[in-house]
Amino acid sequence: MSEANEPDRGRAPIWRHTGFPLHSIAAAATAFEAERAFPQSGEPVYTRWSNPTVLCAEEAVARVEGSRWSALASSGMAAIDLALSIHQDAGDDRPLLIFSEVYGGTIRYAEAVLVRRRGAQVHWFRPQGEAFDIHEFERTLDDLRPKAVFFEPLTNPLLICVPARAVIAAAGRRGVATIIDNTMATPCLWRPLDEGADLVVQSATKYLSGHGNLTGGVVAGNDPELRRAVLEHRKHVGCILSPDDAYRLQTQLETLPLRFAAQCVNASRIAARLAAHPAVKRVRYPGLPMHPTHGEAVNLFGNRGFGAIVTFDLRAGRSGCDRFVAAVGERIGYVATFGDGASILTHVATTFGPQFDEGSIRLSVGFEEGDSLLATIATALDSIPA
Ligand code: PLP
Repeated sequence: MSEANEPDRGRAPIWRHTGFPLHSIAAAATAFEAERAFPQSGEPVYTRWSNPTVLCAEEAVARVEGSRWSALASSGMAAIDLALSIHQDAGDDRPLLIFSEVYGGTIRYAEAVLVRRRGAQVHWFRPQGEAFDIHEFERTLDDLRPKAVFFEPLTNPLLICVPARAVIAAAGRRGVATIIDNTMATPCLWRPLDEGADLVVQSATKYLSGHGNLTGGVVAGNDPELRRAVLEHRKHVGCILSPDDAYRLQTQLETLPLRFAAQCVNASRIAARLAAHPAVKRVRYPGLPMHPTHGEAVNLFGNRGFGAIVTFDLRAGRSGCDRFVAAVGERIGYVATFGDGASILTHVATTFGPQFDEGSIRLSVGFEEGDSLLATIATALDSIPA
């Protein structure tokens, strides 16, 4: 790289090249050989394989995850596909064990791609009531002998906190790989790789980028063989994050701890206010002592916070939700994602299915000034019949 392209504040410049000059046949031969030996180890050749801007952002993400490596993908779903695909080998018919309370898109991907297209065996591990039972999990591992387990430590939209350390340990004792979608908790609350997980995936679309302006995904891990497998698979299917988005992700990642801490504080204040309001039937927030898995959340997250999503049920049902959405108006927009810097909401049953309470709203709490956000919510609640 030329001097003009020296990294600035730990960021690489945006290298938009599709292919990089190799200068001679001999240099090309060396670069191709290095690439075959270990993807991303040598001089950059072709951006779908590897790109210096993406590599630099991957190093920044790995520092945040506390991992030896990370690989950036074009979306959270692409990251999930990478992590699960490398645990599918022809002739290995061990099943994948996936917790039932994961993102709906992951459930539909597992059914449509893993099961229907690839013929994989997928088993769903379900909670008992509103908590996952570790003894039941151990029995399931012994019965099924799966190849890998996939779960989210903090589920969406019910915010069940999984006994994640015990799950990793139980799987590890049996040689079962653990893949954790840590999108909701973020590495600010918990770093699964520190506790022996094999892979972490993230939808970087959410808190990692944090402004609702970027679609991306992360796979992170410590094992170099898993890295090789992830990079090779990404190269074949072509789902690397673009250099422009990698640059922006790296920049926006620098404020993750500040943003997320402010979001967690706002969320816990809002949860307490909602719980005290007569129009609200129930609040789900793992920071509240009445939450079914509050103890588990304290155990896992310590004093770092309880996340920035609050799910609550209004006594007035669907009509109450319509009123609430209209009353908060543009202050809290109706947007079907979470993790934005601005607070946004969705109606749970419309988004996640009719099995959920018609009066339930999922609020993704932003880092706006807390008092005015609380005032907006309180005024909206006051307009709803209790
Ligand atoms: N994982 C979780 C927990 C999610 O909520 C989502 C999307 O909402 C995804 C993965 C997929 O991420 P993306 O939309 O970036 O593909």
